[in-house]
Amino acid sequence: MHTPLCRHASGEPVEYAARAVAVGLDEIGFSDHSPMRQDDFDNWRMRFDQLGEYVEKVRRAQKDFPKLTIRLSLEVDYLPGQEEWIRELAARHPWDYLIGSVHYVSDSWAVDNPEMISKWKTRDPYEVWAAYFDRLTRAADSGLFEIIAHADLPKKFNIYPKEDCTPLFQSFLETARKKDVAIELNTAGLRKDCREIYPSPAFLQLAAQQKIPITFGSDAHAPAEVGSAFTEALALARSVGYTHSCRFQQRRRTESPL
Ligand SMILES: [Zn+2]
Ligand SMILES: [Zn+2]
Repeated sequence: MHTPLCRHASGEPVEYAARAVAVGLDEIGFSDHSPMRQDDFDNWRMRFDQLGEYVEKVRRAQKDFPKLTIRLSLEVDYLPGQEEWIRELAARHPWDYLIGSVHYVSDSWAVDNPEMISKWKTRDPYEVWAAYFDRLTRAADSGLFEIIAHADLPKKFNIYPKEDCTPLFQSFLETARKKDVAIELNTAGLRKDCREIYPSPAFLQLAAQQKIPITFGSDAHAPAEVGSAFTEALALARSVGYTHSCRFQQRRRTESPL
Protein backbone atom coordinates (compact mmCIF):
# COMPACT_ATOMS: atom_id res chain seq x y z
CA MET A 1 0.00 0.00 0.00
CA HIS A 2 1.06 3.55 -0.68
CA THR A 3 1.17 7.02 0.87
CA PRO A 4 0.81 10.56 -0.53
CA LEU A 5 4.61 10.83 -0.60
CA CYS A 6 4.64 9.02 -3.96
CA ARG A 7 2.55 11.86 -5.44
CA HIS A 8 -0.19 9.65 -6.91
CA ALA A 9 -1.85 8.23 -3.78
CA SER A 10 -4.14 9.83 -1.22
CA GLY A 11 -4.75 9.31 2.50
CA GLU A 12 -2.37 8.91 5.42
CA PRO A 13 -1.24 5.49 6.70
CA VAL A 14 -3.45 5.96 9.79
CA GLU A 15 -6.47 6.18 7.44
CA TYR A 16 -5.43 3.00 5.62
CA ALA A 17 -5.04 1.29 9.00
CA ALA A 18 -8.51 2.42 10.09
CA ARG A 19 -9.94 1.02 6.88
CA ALA A 20 -8.06 -2.28 7.38
CA VAL A 21 -9.64 -2.66 10.81
CA ALA A 22 -13.06 -1.82 9.37
CA VAL A 23 -12.80 -4.53 6.68
CA GLY A 24 -11.49 -7.12 9.14
CA LEU A 25 -7.82 -7.46 8.18
CA ASP A 26 -5.37 -8.38 10.96
CA GLU A 27 -2.17 -7.53 9.12
CA ILE A 28 -1.22 -4.94 6.51
CA GLY A 29 1.98 -3.58 5.02
CA PHE A 30 3.07 -0.29 3.54
CA SER A 31 5.31 -0.53 0.51
CA ASP A 32 5.41 2.88 -1.10
CA HIS A 33 7.40 3.54 -4.27
CA SER A 34 11.03 3.83 -3.22
CA PRO A 35 13.25 6.74 -4.20
CA MET A 36 15.61 6.44 -7.14
CA ARG A 37 19.20 7.54 -6.83
CA GLN A 38 18.22 10.60 -8.90
CA ASP A 39 15.16 12.36 -7.48
CA ASP A 40 14.23 13.69 -10.93
CA PHE A 41 14.15 10.20 -12.47
CA ASP A 42 10.34 10.49 -12.67
CA ASN A 43 7.46 12.16 -10.85
CA TRP A 44 5.63 9.28 -9.19
CA ARG A 45 7.72 8.35 -6.14
CA MET A 46 9.01 9.87 -2.91
CA ARG A 47 12.24 11.84 -2.94
CA PHE A 48 15.20 10.37 -1.12
CA ASP A 49 15.02 13.05 1.61
CA GLN A 50 11.43 11.90 2.35
CA LEU A 51 12.37 8.34 3.25
CA GLY A 52 12.58 9.17 6.99
CA GLU A 53 9.19 10.92 6.85
CA TYR A 54 7.73 7.82 5.19
CA VAL A 55 8.99 5.57 7.98
CA GLU A 56 7.60 8.05 10.55
CA LYS A 57 4.14 7.94 8.97
CA VAL A 58 4.08 4.14 9.13
CA ARG A 59 5.39 4.17 12.71
CA ARG A 60 2.57 6.55 13.66
CA ALA A 61 -0.01 4.14 12.27
CA GLN A 62 1.65 1.30 14.21
CA LYS A 63 1.36 3.35 17.43
CA ASP A 64 -2.23 4.38 16.79
CA PHE A 65 -3.37 0.84 15.89
CA PRO A 66 -1.53 -1.45 18.31
CA LYS A 67 -3.85 -4.41 17.65
CA LEU A 68 -3.28 -4.33 13.91
CA THR A 69 0.02 -5.72 12.63
CA ILE A 70 1.53 -3.12 10.32
CA ARG A 71 4.64 -4.01 8.35
CA LEU A 72 7.15 -1.55 6.99
CA SER A 73 8.28 -2.14 3.44
CA LEU A 74 9.12 -0.54 0.11
CA GLU A 75 8.13 -1.27 -3.46
CA VAL A 76 11.48 -0.98 -5.17
CA ASP A 77 11.84 -0.50 -8.92
CA TYR A 78 14.30 -2.97 -10.32
CA LEU A 79 16.46 -1.57 -13.13
CA PRO A 80 19.62 -3.38 -14.18
CA GLY A 81 22.61 -1.52 -12.75
CA GLN A 82 20.68 -0.22 -9.72
CA GLU A 83 21.58 -3.15 -7.46
CA GLU A 84 24.03 -1.13 -5.37
CA TRP A 85 21.46 1.62 -4.81
CA ILE A 86 18.86 -0.96 -3.77
CA ARG A 87 21.33 -2.43 -1.26
CA GLU A 88 21.86 1.07 0.16
CA LEU A 89 18.10 1.54 0.56
CA ALA A 90 17.75 -1.90 2.11
CA ALA A 91 20.32 -1.02 4.78
CA ARG A 92 18.70 2.31 5.77
CA HIS A 93 15.72 1.05 7.80
CA PRO A 94 14.65 -2.27 9.32
CA TRP A 95 12.26 -3.20 6.49
CA ASP A 96 10.02 -6.21 7.05
CA TYR A 97 10.26 -7.07 3.35
CA LEU A 98 11.13 -5.51 0.02
CA ILE A 99 8.87 -5.89 -2.98
CA GLY A 100 10.73 -5.84 -6.27
CA SER A 101 8.80 -4.47 -9.18
CA VAL A 102 9.43 -3.76 -12.82
CA HIS A 103 7.63 -0.84 -14.42
CA TYR A 104 10.47 0.35 -16.67
CA VAL A 105 11.52 -1.66 -19.72
CA SER A 106 13.98 1.13 -20.52
CA ASP A 107 15.08 4.18 -18.50
CA SER A 108 12.44 6.29 -20.23
CA TRP A 109 9.38 4.05 -20.41
CA ALA A 110 7.29 2.62 -17.60
CA VAL A 111 4.85 0.29 -19.39
CA ASP A 112 2.03 1.02 -16.94
CA ASN A 113 2.26 4.83 -17.10
CA PRO A 114 -1.05 6.13 -18.50
CA GLU A 115 0.71 9.29 -19.73
CA MET A 116 2.83 7.13 -22.01
CA ILE A 117 0.20 4.70 -23.27
CA SER A 118 0.76 5.91 -26.86
CA LYS A 119 4.21 4.34 -26.71
CA TRP A 120 2.54 0.91 -26.88
CA LYS A 121 1.43 1.78 -30.45
CA THR A 122 5.02 2.14 -31.57
CA ARG A 123 6.18 -1.20 -30.17
CA ASP A 124 5.50 -4.84 -30.85
CA PRO A 125 3.60 -6.10 -27.77
CA TYR A 126 5.56 -9.34 -27.61
CA GLU A 127 8.88 -7.45 -27.59
CA VAL A 128 7.63 -5.34 -24.69
CA TRP A 129 6.42 -8.36 -22.73
CA ALA A 130 9.71 -10.16 -23.40
CA ALA A 131 11.77 -7.14 -22.27
CA TYR A 132 9.60 -6.84 -19.18
CA PHE A 133 9.94 -10.51 -18.23
CA ASP A 134 13.68 -10.42 -18.85
CA ARG A 135 13.92 -7.68 -16.20
CA LEU A 136 11.43 -9.38 -13.89
CA THR A 137 13.48 -12.57 -14.03
CA ARG A 138 16.63 -10.59 -13.24
CA ALA A 139 14.81 -8.95 -10.31
CA ALA A 140 13.94 -12.39 -8.92
CA ASP A 141 17.49 -13.57 -9.55
CA SER A 142 19.05 -10.55 -7.80
CA GLY A 143 18.32 -11.86 -4.30
CA LEU A 144 17.32 -8.30 -3.29
CA PHE A 145 13.60 -8.93 -2.81
CA GLU A 146 11.28 -11.16 -0.80
CA ILE A 147 8.33 -10.61 -3.13
CA ILE A 148 7.95 -9.79 -6.80
CA ALA A 149 5.10 -7.38 -7.55
CA HIS A 150 2.26 -7.57 -10.10
CA ALA A 151 4.03 -10.18 -12.22
CA ASP A 152 2.08 -9.65 -15.46
CA LEU A 153 1.84 -5.85 -15.28
CA PRO A 154 2.16 -5.31 -19.08
CA LYS A 155 -1.47 -6.48 -19.41
CA LYS A 156 -2.66 -3.35 -17.56
CA PHE A 157 -4.03 -1.58 -20.66
CA ASN A 158 -5.39 -4.84 -22.06
CA ILE A 159 -2.72 -5.01 -24.77
CA TYR A 160 -1.62 -8.62 -25.26
CA PRO A 161 0.87 -10.16 -27.72
CA LYS A 162 -0.51 -12.72 -30.17
CA GLU A 163 2.44 -14.96 -29.30
CA ASP A 164 2.22 -17.43 -26.43
CA CYS A 165 3.96 -15.89 -23.40
CA THR A 166 4.07 -19.11 -21.38
CA PRO A 167 7.85 -19.58 -21.91
CA LEU A 168 8.44 -16.05 -20.52
CA PHE A 169 6.33 -16.87 -17.45
CA GLN A 170 8.08 -20.22 -16.99
CA SER A 171 11.59 -18.86 -17.03
CA PHE A 172 10.64 -16.19 -14.49
CA LEU A 173 8.93 -18.77 -12.26
CA GLU A 174 11.87 -21.16 -12.42
CA THR A 175 14.15 -18.38 -11.23
CA ALA A 176 11.69 -17.39 -8.50
CA ARG A 177 11.62 -20.99 -7.29
CA LYS A 178 15.39 -21.33 -7.36
CA LYS A 179 15.81 -18.06 -5.42
CA ASP A 180 12.89 -18.77 -3.06
CA VAL A 181 11.07 -15.55 -3.95
CA ALA A 182 7.33 -15.05 -3.44
CA ILE A 183 4.87 -13.42 -5.84
CA GLU A 184 1.81 -11.39 -4.94
CA LEU A 185 -1.82 -11.69 -5.92
CA ASN A 186 -2.41 -8.01 -6.59
CA THR A 187 -6.04 -6.99 -6.91
CA ALA A 188 -5.27 -3.58 -8.46
CA GLY A 189 -5.49 -5.25 -11.88
CA LEU A 190 -9.25 -5.53 -11.36
CA ARG A 191 -9.40 -1.72 -11.23
CA LYS A 192 -7.51 -1.32 -14.55
CA ASP A 193 -8.46 -1.89 -18.21
CA CYS A 194 -7.38 -5.54 -18.02
CA ARG A 195 -10.02 -6.19 -15.29
CA GLU A 196 -8.03 -9.09 -13.92
CA ILE A 197 -5.93 -9.77 -10.84
CA TYR A 198 -2.15 -9.75 -11.36
CA PRO A 199 -1.14 -12.43 -12.26
CA SER A 200 -3.69 -14.17 -14.49
CA PRO A 201 -5.24 -17.52 -13.51
CA ALA A 202 -3.09 -19.32 -16.13
CA PHE A 203 0.08 -17.71 -14.75
CA LEU A 204 -0.90 -18.49 -11.18
CA GLN A 205 -1.57 -22.10 -12.10
CA LEU A 206 2.03 -22.38 -13.32
CA ALA A 207 3.23 -20.67 -10.13
CA ALA A 208 1.29 -23.15 -8.01
CA GLN A 209 2.87 -26.07 -9.88
CA GLN A 210 6.29 -24.60 -9.06
CA LYS A 211 5.19 -24.06 -5.44
CA ILE A 212 5.99 -20.35 -5.53
CA PRO A 213 4.86 -18.75 -2.23
CA ILE A 214 2.17 -16.08 -2.49
CA THR A 215 1.08 -12.93 -0.68
CA PHE A 216 -2.09 -10.87 -1.07
CA GLY A 217 -1.99 -7.18 -1.93
CA SER A 218 -4.57 -4.57 -2.82
CA ASP A 219 -1.86 -2.13 -3.97
CA ALA A 220 -4.09 0.50 -2.33
CA HIS A 221 -3.43 4.07 -3.42
CA ALA A 222 -6.39 5.31 -1.33
CA PRO A 223 -7.89 4.11 1.98
CA ALA A 224 -11.05 2.85 0.26
CA GLU A 225 -8.96 0.36 -1.72
CA VAL A 226 -7.53 -1.44 1.33
CA GLY A 227 -8.27 -5.17 1.08
CA SER A 228 -10.17 -4.62 -2.14
CA ALA A 229 -11.42 -7.87 -3.80
CA PHE A 230 -9.53 -10.11 -1.37
CA THR A 231 -12.41 -12.61 -1.42
CA GLU A 232 -11.88 -12.99 -5.16
CA ALA A 233 -8.09 -13.26 -4.77
CA LEU A 234 -8.50 -15.93 -2.10
CA ALA A 235 -10.84 -17.91 -4.35
CA LEU A 236 -8.34 -17.64 -7.21
CA ALA A 237 -5.48 -18.88 -5.03
CA ARG A 238 -7.52 -21.84 -3.82
CA SER A 239 -8.74 -22.66 -7.33
CA VAL A 240 -5.19 -23.36 -8.53
CA GLY A 241 -4.31 -25.40 -5.44
CA TYR A 242 -2.75 -22.99 -2.97
CA THR A 243 -3.31 -23.89 0.67
CA HIS A 244 -1.02 -21.29 2.29
CA SER A 245 0.06 -17.71 1.87
CA CYS A 246 3.05 -16.06 3.44
CA ARG A 247 3.90 -13.06 5.60
CA PHE A 248 7.18 -11.37 6.38
CA GLN A 249 8.73 -9.88 9.48
CA GLN A 250 12.26 -8.53 9.47
CA ARG A 251 12.74 -10.15 6.08
CA ARG A 252 11.89 -13.64 7.36
CA ARG A 253 9.01 -15.57 5.85
CA THR A 254 6.31 -17.49 7.68
CA GLU A 255 3.45 -19.43 6.11
CA SER A 256 -0.16 -19.37 7.23
CA PRO A 257 -3.09 -21.49 6.02
CA LEU A 258 -5.60 -19.87 3.68
ZN1 LIG B 1 1.70 3.59 -7.48
ZN1 LIG C 1 3.99 -1.20 -8.95
